Amino acid sequence: MESAHNERPKINTCWCIQINEAYLHVPLIVIAFLTLSRDKLTLGIPKKPIDAGEFDLVVVGGGMAGICTALSAARLGVKVALIQNRPVLGGNNSSEVRVHLGARINVEPYPALGNLVNEIGPSRGGNAMPGDYYEDDKKISAVYKEKNISLFLNHHANDVQVKNGIITKVIAQHIETGRKLAFSAPLFADCTGDGTIGVMAGAEYMSGRESRSTFNEPTAPEKEDQLTMGVSVQWFSEKTDAPAPFPDISWGIEMSEEKAEAVTRGDWDWETGMDKDMITEFEKIRDYGMLVVFSNWSYVKNHSTAKDEFAKERLRWVAYIGGKRESRRLVGDYILTETDLTQKKLQPDGTAPTTWTIDLHYPAPENTELFPGQEFKSIAKHIEIYPYTIPFRCLYSKDINNLMMAGRNISVSHVALGTIRLMRTGGMMGEVIGMAASLCKEKDVLPADIYHTYFSDLKELMTVGVGDPDLPEIQNYNLGKTLMED
Ligand SMILES: Cc1cc2nc3c(=O)[nH]c(=O)nc-3n(C[C@H](O)[C@H](O)[C@H](O)COP(=O)(O)OP(=O)(O)OC[C@H]3O[C@@H](n4cnc5c(N)ncnc54)[C@H](O)[C@@H]3O)c2cc1C
Repeated sequence: MESAHNERPKINTCWCIQINEAYLHVPLIVIAFLTLSRDKLTLGIPKKPIDAGEFDLVVVGGGMAGICTALSAARLGVKVALIQNRPVLGGNNSSEVRVHLGARINVEPYPALGNLVNEIGPSRGGNAMPGDYYEDDKKISAVYKEKNISLFLNHHANDVQVKNGIITKVIAQHIETGRKLAFSAPLFADCTGDGTIGVMAGAEYMSGRESRSTFNEPTAPEKEDQLTMGVSVQWFSEKTDAPAPFPDISWGIEMSEEKAEAVTRGDWDWETGMDKDMITEFEKIRDYGMLVVFSNWSYVKNHSTAKDEFAKERLRWVAYIGGKRESRRLVGDYILTETDLTQKKLQPDGTAPTTWTIDLHYPAPENTELFPGQEFKSIAKHIEIYPYTIPFRCLYSKDINNLMMAGRNISVSHVALGTIRLMRTGGMMGEVIGMAASLCKEKDVLPADIYHTYFSDLKELMTVGVGDPDLPEIQNYNLGKTLMED
């Protein structure tokens, strides 16, 4: 067959003339742009952010932690703006990423904490399952029901205004139109997972792994480094009635019988990018995660000795948003570390319980051997802990006086992140800081004052909880197996 690539490309001379003529108009276009840009950008978008209004609390990030923060505060009379940079709520537990909830709720000494997670959490477990497993609608309906919440989907918070250690405004930009909104409030909650609001405001943060001597943690490496837990691009295939061919791609990573995996799903352990920067290289990491999935599938479908067995398997879903586990952790008035957890050194300001093991991930050694420097599989190592109440001082920034946080970006060491990063735990942290926001409003104080002066009021709220106590308990999957009995 003659190849079309041998033909010389035809040059459209008409286009060249038009392009040359267009250059003549460049100065006019520049003048028009400069005139417009005094108050508007070229697309007619106002240059200055539009005022989105005054709120009592602005929550940034609509994962489990952010949703629970917003719901908890709203139910206690706080006027909330919830800003989420995706079209759906749920973060890693949404149908976009498809990670199931883990860890325990309703644990002593505050067994009512977690009723809220029970209310909005999916009833079925499983990673990388069909989209309806993650019940996006349930989460968003709960938010829509609260008259005190204004929800801003598709808005990415990318700027802050700070005065004397206080955030005065968060600026968020619509991811499709580019329009910017400015949100004002006396209190903010960083539930972005990445500590983005705190970092933009100048708060101290930690990233990577601390050295063993930093916090006297036996599991920490001798020397500090920037290794983190990685990103997962999960996927699955389904059996169909007819043959389901897949292109034999030439642009993927090199696979072989030894390197490829003839499997029908990629779960949590398809994890990559541990040595990369989770903020600046996140898209590159996600792209590599996708490349790996397509390369492996292409090999299995076209070359593997298992290809006949896979002939009717169709790639049904590949995540297009990477599932992140770790990036930046904001420093609070207390930093939770390994020995607090393993020796159960309880603090007086304990709040939401963390119950999962200290679960830390590392590149899978056999995958490193096959793909040195380009690993995409991981292993997990677990350390058992007793249930541990996370100190309230881990839930607000030590530097930015009106900033609280919930989820994986709270004040913990890398090792302690191994247990607190579970989403039911993050949801309960959100429930707690929502309560704290209501007390800040009522008493006209800042989060640190809740620790210093009003912790007994927070205890009362945690005893009651804000979730519906009468619903059937459906959060009984993926509780964590290695928890020791107290
Ligand atoms: C593959 C995988 C398996 C896992 N297994 C489990 C498990 O079995 N059980 C479990 O509980 N946990 C599990 N985890 C860990 C858990 O998913 C994360 O630790 C958890 O998602 C952290 O919750 P979060 O609310 O802090 O962050 P996220 O879930 O990431 O939510 C943060 C939200 O904020 C939004 N956001 C971020 N930046 C901005 C911004 N600037 N402006 C506006 N919005 C923003 C994001 O879009 C996102 O929706 C797993 C993680 C992965 C990747």
